[in-house]
Amino acid sequence: MAGNGVFAEILDGEVFKYYADGEWKKSSSGKSVAIINPTTRKTQYKVQACSQEEVNKVMDSAKSAQKLWAKTPLWKRAELLHKAAAILKEHKAPIAESLVKEIAKPAKDAVTEVVRSGDLVSYCAEEGVRILGEGKFLVSDSFPGNERTKYCLTSKIPLGVILAIPPFNYPVNLAVSKIAPALIAGNSIVLKPPTQGAVSALHMVHCFHLAGFPKGLINCVTGKGSEIGDFLTMHPGVNCISFTGGDTGIAISKKAGMIPLQMELGGKDACIVLEDADLDLVAGNIIKGGFSYSGQRCTAVKVVLVMESVADALVEKVKAKVAKLSVGAPENDCDITPVVSESSANFIEGLVKDAKEKGATFCQEYKREGNLIWPLLLDNVKPDMRIAWEEPFGPVLPLIRINSIEEGIHHCNASNFGLQGCVFTKDVNKAIMISDAMETGTVQINSAPARGPDHFPFQGIKDSGIGSQGITNSINMMTKVKTTVINLPSPSYTMG
Ligand code: NAP
Repeated sequence: MAGNGVFAEILDGEVFKYYADGEWKKSSSGKSVAIINPTTRKTQYKVQACSQEEVNKVMDSAKSAQKLWAKTPLWKRAELLHKAAAILKEHKAPIAESLVKEIAKPAKDAVTEVVRSGDLVSYCAEEGVRILGEGKFLVSDSFPGNERTKYCLTSKIPLGVILAIPPFNYPVNLAVSKIAPALIAGNSIVLKPPTQGAVSALHMVHCFHLAGFPKGLINCVTGKGSEIGDFLTMHPGVNCISFTGGDTGIAISKKAGMIPLQMELGGKDACIVLEDADLDLVAGNIIKGGFSYSGQRCTAVKVVLVMESVADALVEKVKAKVAKLSVGAPENDCDITPVVSESSANFIEGLVKDAKEKGATFCQEYKREGNLIWPLLLDNVKPDMRIAWEEPFGPVLPLIRINSIEEGIHHCNASNFGLQGCVFTKDVNKAIMISDAMETGTVQINSAPARGPDHFPFQGIKDSGIGSQGITNSINMMTKVKTTVINLPSPSYTMG
């Protein structure tokens, strides 16, 4: 159970503590933030509403701890990360339980998220040892006008304090995907978890605490993003921001100082279906891609662009599969569970109503109870409908019938997002050409968009992000190159 057993010390009465300077603490603000269970719509947990003063203290201790951590041998950093990964996996049950209660993630997927997070931490430790264990050696005589009088040694050094802000949909996995690369590279961490998902994240942080990381190296401050977010992101003590979420990231990018930013933002991933596609494969991927975790995934299929000649057949296949999706509570491991909040459900409903008014074909009846929205495929969606462009982040999928490949590519590229996309065809040459033409960070051929495996590069262009994630890219992003140049009194050539 959450807040029990080894996790008892993270709870104070009915409010979960925040983590700073190696200890679990109560906020002096005396205020807490309620976490509403999306299924019951009642308060499930409470977390501390940290004050600005507490944030200042956290930044100071993160800075001091980082200086010592940077002097800790790489193999020791890796050893601690492996330990944390093992503890995280050992305690997957209470963490998964919190994911079920605070973000309504289906029970099995919640366990998968924790296990995958442990694997990510271990992989990161291994990858870090390899890539940070190497530097470069350059000689000067390759550049015109130079003799071999300069030897340049390069290595990768940490940035300092990394501010990590993950979103609600993967509060554990998208937190460790920032924490582990930061730590292996010698940085310290200030984590601001999403409010929905904060308790799962606090449990995860406790696993790092149990692993024995030095005091102050990992910190977790809780509170509403709308209240402490600006103070955190504009804090002079922050040396890098790694953020995953929605448009908030665009606002943060405009306000942040001169520090490296890693932004993984929204998406409107298009699924382009050609006439020769294997329609059973497409239908299966549309269900998995569009409706897993009720469509609340950045890489969910968010618009299907299908050639008119095969559209009827595809719609029939998708309809048959939608009818088989179970709808209900996350505890029962249903395919479709309540969306994260009432405001989110209202937003989705607004998109559905707009599509109805503008003449979309409803393949199922629209049905909603509280935050639970039944899966819905909208056929004959037209570009004047909001759902053709906006991210519903719910189990509602628009389908646009196209008459040419160019029309599909045009729709994909007219979006302000550019996260992922996918194309279904048996013609590999066409697939490559379409992939090249799509303005997205990744294109999947004959499969739905996906962030994993976690070591693959993962990036969005346009409003979908800045920089690239994936374990190796994140480690590199959280370091800076440092060079030392040895100047010789006279040219020196090997065997000379
Ligand atoms: P969100 O509303 O942007 O929130 C993301 C995080 O930002 C939360 O921790 C939130 O805290 C915090 N926050 C809110 N206001 C802030 C501020 N002014 N300054 C700093 N932080 C602030 O996103 P979400 O609803 O959690 O997640 C859904 C979005 O994330 C979707 O758009 C989805 O596509 C995107 N996403 C992208 C990726 C990717 O890798 N590209 C992956 C997953 C999700 P509070 O919870 O306390 O408000």
